[in-house]
Order: sequence, then C-alpha cells, then structure tokens
Amino acid sequence: MNAPVILDRFRFDAALATTARRYELLIDGIWCQATDRGELTRTSPAHGLTVSTYARAGAVEVETALATARRAFDEESWPRWTGAERSRLLLNVASFIERDAELLATLDVLESGKPIVQARAEIAGAVDIWRYAAALARDLHGDSYNALGPAKLGVVIREPIGVVSIITPWNFPFLIVSQKLPFALAAGCTAIVKPSELTSASTLHLGRLLLEAGLPAGVVNILVGTGPEVGAPLTADSRVDMVSFTGSTRVGKTAMAMASATLKKTSMELGGKNPQIVFPDADLDAALDAVVFGAYFNAGECCNAGSRIMLHETIADDFLAAACDRAATVPVGDPLDPVVKVGAVITPAHLAQIGHHVEAARSAGAAVMLGGARVATPVGHFMAPTIVSRVEPAMAIAREEIFGPVLSVMTFRTAAEVVAIANDTVYGLSASVWSRNIDTCFAVSRGVRAGTVWVNTFMDGAAELPFGGFKQSGVGRELGRNAVADYTEEKTLYFHTGPRTNWWLPARPNGAA
Ligand code: NAD
Repeated sequence: MNAPVILDRFRFDAALATTARRYELLIDGIWCQATDRGELTRTSPAHGLTVSTYARAGAVEVETALATARRAFDEESWPRWTGAERSRLLLNVASFIERDAELLATLDVLESGKPIVQARAEIAGAVDIWRYAAALARDLHGDSYNALGPAKLGVVIREPIGVVSIITPWNFPFLIVSQKLPFALAAGCTAIVKPSELTSASTLHLGRLLLEAGLPAGVVNILVGTGPEVGAPLTADSRVDMVSFTGSTRVGKTAMAMASATLKKTSMELGGKNPQIVFPDADLDAALDAVVFGAYFNAGECCNAGSRIMLHETIADDFLAAACDRAATVPVGDPLDPVVKVGAVITPAHLAQIGHHVEAARSAGAAVMLGGARVATPVGHFMAPTIVSRVEPAMAIAREEIFGPVLSVMTFRTAAEVVAIANDTVYGLSASVWSRNIDTCFAVSRGVRAGTVWVNTFMDGAAELPFGGFKQSGVGRELGRNAVADYTEEKTLYFHTGPRTNWWLPARPNGAA
C-alpha cells in the first residue's frame, strides 16, 4: 500500500482562535441569547481548538422565530417591496459578502476543515449567486392569456410563497445558504434559517450583513441548534409554507414526511453516489486530474463527489496505477495553508465511519490500493486519500454515500453496461463521461439518470444552470432562471368585462359564464 504524502504544515495562526467567537441568535432583527442560556461550541476539526460558541436555540426561540417570520410576511412591507428595491438590497448584500470574504472563508475553514483556497472560491461563488438572484428579482413575472374571449383576460401572477424554512448542512456552509436565501428573498418570502450546528458561524455573519444592508427586522431569522430541537419543528409547523432542505437523504426523508402533514412545498437537495466514466479514447490526463479532484475535493465530503470511477477494462490497470500515483501526491494538511488541497474530516465520529466503510469493502473482497486509514497529525482528524479497487456493483462501497476521500474503482466493457452500473443506485445527483467520441458522450449522458452530467469535465457549475437530483438525490432544482419562481405560488386572475349573461336563462351563447 502506498502511503500518501503528508505535508508537515500546521501553521495555524493561534490569533484566529485565541478567543472563540461568540454568536447569538437573530430573531426579529435583534441578536439574542437562548432563554435557557444554552450554548453550543465548535472545535476546529483541523486544529483541535474551540473556535465558536453559539447560543443554542430551543423551543422558545423556535416559537418566537416562527411567529416573527409569519408576522413579517403577513403584516409587514417586505413582500410588497418592488423587485427593483429587493434587487438593490441583494446587490448590497453581495458587496458586503465580497468585502468580508476573507473572514467568511476563514470561518468556514475553521469550522469545516476545508482548505482556505477552496473556501475563498466558495465565497466568491456565493457573491456571484447573490448577484444573479438580484437580477432575477427584477424579472419575476407571470403570464397572460388574451384569447379566452373578447371580454375575458386570464392573468397568471406569481406571489411569494410565504414563510420558508431553510435548513443547511455542514459541508458547504456559506455556499448552500447562498443557493437558497437570496432567491427566497428575491421572491419576497420571509425565512427562518437553520445552519448545521457544526458550521453556523458564516451564516450568522451573513445575518449581520443582511441587517447592515437594511433588510427589515423579522424577514430573516437565524437559529442555531440541533436537527431534532430546531430543524424538526421548522419542517412540521403549519406557519411554514415551504421547506428548502439540503442534507442527507435519510434526514431529507424525515423532513419531507414531517412537512407532508400540512402539505408544504419541499425542495430537497440530498446525497449522491456519482460515477465518473472513462472511455479509452478520452483525454486520459484530463480525466485523471478530474478523477482525483472529484474524489478528494472537500475531502470527499461533497454531494457531488465523484466517488465511483468506472474505467473501460482496456485502460483500467494503467489508469488505476496513475490515479494511485497522483492521489498519493495530493497535499493533505492544515487547511489554512494555501497549498493544501485536502483538509480535515468534519468530526472524529465521521472519520471512524469512513474507516468502517473501507474495512467493510476490504472484508467483502475489494483491494485497498492507497490510504485506507487516518493520517497521523499532531492535532485534528484527517483521512488519507484512499483508493479501493476490485469493487463490485453489489458492494456497499459502490452504492452508499461514504462522504470521505475514498474512491471506488470498477471496470466495464460497453457503454450500455456502464450506464446500467451507473444507474444501479438509489441516487441520481451527478455523473461525468470522458470520451472524444460525441456518440459515446451523447449516449452515456442521456442514459445516466442524474440531475447533472458533465461531459469531459467535472463539477463545473454556474448560477444560470439548474442543479438537483433524480431519484433519492432530491426533489426540485436550485439555481437557474426558475430559482426565484420556485419560492412563489402561482395565482390565476380571471378578468371579465362587459355585461354578464344570466346563468338561469335557457340559452347561453358559447356556454359562457
Ligand atoms: P444532515 O442530513 O445530517 O443534516 C442537514 C441539516 O438537517 C442540518 O442542519 C441538521 O441539523 C438538520 N437536521 C437533522 N435532523 C433533522 C430533522 N429531524 N429535521 C430537520 N432538520 C434536521 O446532513 P449533513 O451531515 O449536515 O450533510 C451531509 C449531507 O448533505 C450528505 O448526504 C450530502 O450529500 C448532502 N448534501 C447534498 C447537497 C445537494 O445539493 N444535493 C449539497 C450538500 C450536501
């Protein structure tokens, strides 16, 4: 087994964590403690230092936030601001995010363990999304039907759906809230945001920026707390009109079931087990880079992780050897070091779970070609980039989301066979195909059941492009030109002019009302 190269870089700037940052909850425009003075703390997974202390919301705060968001929607001005006014506010928020980008990136690094260069790119991506939402805010419109009869006009308008619960995971703390909140605001909704209790700091800082930009009190409320204490009531309560959730498929199902009691609209962005399919005629150097990137980006803690590679059997041995060589040189270490590409794993428990998955694969007959264990570091919890070959489609490692830097390798003979293997999972989030033959690319990209298929690239995205999953990877789409419309209800207005024909008279021309 090749050992990955571990950089001995722990240049953690102690000043960043000498005092843990303290955060309160944002309710009705005011920062407040929990009524029971409860707190949660977060330890940096890379550095072993307490970096954040949050007020911990409980039932009282959930109740107040729900009542506040409802009141701000039903009784106050925000839903009636013009698109232009809401757009200006979103643009101001985008500028403030840009101004505070280094702080926001650092908060995400300290709490999630992701590399700083990557975190900076995520914040820049978020700025772009807020600006895109600002553009869409001015284009929110309905439709009209003027061929219903000379004295009739049908008008379909879009109204904000109401109060939205926004529940986010820990792996892309700032990016994911930015894929939801600006669009909900662009539509005129009010919101209660519950970030992951492991990575709430950047979302709480966003709360400050929203107030600085002049968002009226109560429009956005931010509660830090656990899933059962805060997330669950935000999905169940009848005062919520829509739940926008990103997280695991398991919790997503619970959230959807709870939301169904009051038939709320739900938007679900869930797990993935995404194949990268490499044909022999591909640009193999480019594919190799994408395979390593796809598996180890964000330490594999990514819904889009390319965690299954499928190699045509004629190139499998050489490609696998090259992938092991390349993966062994991926810099793992202190995520504050700009050279590092793979940072820490989110919690010790998650690290142990990744290890169990690898051991289970080994017991089932797979071969661990690289890594397979935690990295020995002075502090923190890190997993070595791992490659597991001789993986069969029936093995758990080929089917379940591992959510760590673990790449499973399978082989195939034909395009039809690889499409069948790719689809043999409950997930359908994303996939990629690598070939210089357009027919191959077309057949595979049409055959794979996934919300996004990359052709000769991996994990590229843009605010303009809808993102979401087939099957148990989710329900609905985020981003794209319908992203604001998703947070609206359609209302049909039917206008009638001129005299009304009496209903009770026997002869009604054209059956008109
Ligand atoms: P998770 O499902 O454990 O938690 C997500 C959020 O739900 C957290 O805020 C959590 O506190 C909350 N929660 C927990 N129990 C709840 C309940 N009963 N009711 C309501 N909310 C509850 O997910 P995670 O571990 O934070 O994130 C990793 C998962 O997220 C992975 O499965 C990953 O694939 C998925 N993810 C999907 C996408 C996507 O766009 N499809 C993006 C990022 C992450």
